[in-house]
Amino acid sequence: MPSVESLPYLLKELKLPGIKSYWQEKAKIAESLHWSYGEFLADILDMELTGREQRRLQEIMRQSKLPSTKTLSTLDLTANPSINPAQIKHFSQDKSWLSQAENLILLGPSGIGKTHIASAIGHGLIEQGARVFFSSATMLIQTLQQAKNELKLKNTLDRLARFDLLILDDIGYVKKSEQETSVLFELINERYETGSILITANQAFGDWEHIFPDSIMAVAAIDRLVHHATIIQMTGESYRATYAMNKNKKKEDSKT
Ligand code: ADP
Ligand code: MG
Repeated sequence: MPSVESLPYLLKELKLPGIKSYWQEKAKIAESLHWSYGEFLADILDMELTGREQRRLQEIMRQSKLPSTKTLSTLDLTANPSINPAQIKHFSQDKSWLSQAENLILLGPSGIGKTHIASAIGHGLIEQGARVFFSSATMLIQTLQQAKNELKLKNTLDRLARFDLLILDDIGYVKKSEQETSVLFELINERYETGSILITANQAFGDWEHIFPDSIMAVAAIDRLVHHATIIQMTGESYRATYAMNKNKKKEDSKT
C-alpha cells in the first residue's frame, strides 16, 4: 500500500495538477460532509476535468490572436441599424456554419465596427469549442509569402487548416507589393469547401482586383469565397465618429 506521502509524486506523474493542488482541501470537506469514497473521487475528478477544459480554452484563445476586448459583451448590437443583432448572435453562437465550411464577408466603410463584430464572432465560436485564428490580411499574406519563398507554403497552409475559422481582417489593405505571389488565392483555394473564412473589407468586390495579381484570379477567388457565403453589407456612420460626437454632445449638454 503506497503512503499518502507519495501522492504529490503520483499526481504529478499522472498529470493531475488540479487534484494535486486541491485534494487536501477537498478531503476535509468530504470528511465533514460525510461523502462516500465514490463521491469524493467523482468530485475531485470533475474538478480536474473542469480545470483541464479551462486551460484548453485559454490556450485556444491565446492561439487565436483575437483582440481580447472586442467581444460580444462589449459590442453594442443596436448601434448600427444595418446589422441584424439576431444574425450576428447566430454566427457567434451556432457553429454549424463552420462544419459546412461556409464563409462570412463583412463589408462597410472604415470605423463602422467590422473588426469588432468579426472578433466578437470569433470569441463566441471559441466558447462553442471551435478553433479560430484572427489576423490582419496583410500580416497573414506576408507570412504566407515568406513561407512560399522558403518552400514551406504547404506546411503553413496545413497549419492554418487546423483552424475551423480564419478571420482575415481588412483584405482591402493588401498592397500591390504583397499580391504578386498569389498566396492569398492559394489560401482561398485551399480552404474552399473545407474550412470557413471570415473576411472584412472596406471595398466592394468590384475593387478587389488590386488584391490579386490579375483580374482572372480575382474573379476565381471571389467566386470561391462567395459560393457558400453570407455577405453583410454595413452602411452608416463610423462608430468612432458617432461615439466621439455623442460624447462631445453630452459634454455640451451638461454645460447648459
Ligand atoms: P472597422 O473595422 O469597420 O474599421 P472597428 O471594428 O475597428 O471598425 O470599430 C471602430 C471602433 O469602434 C473600435 O474601437 C470598436 O471597438 C468600436 N465599435 C464599433 N462598433 C461598435 C459597436 N457596435 N459597439 C461597441 N463598439 C463599437
Ligand atoms: Mg477594421
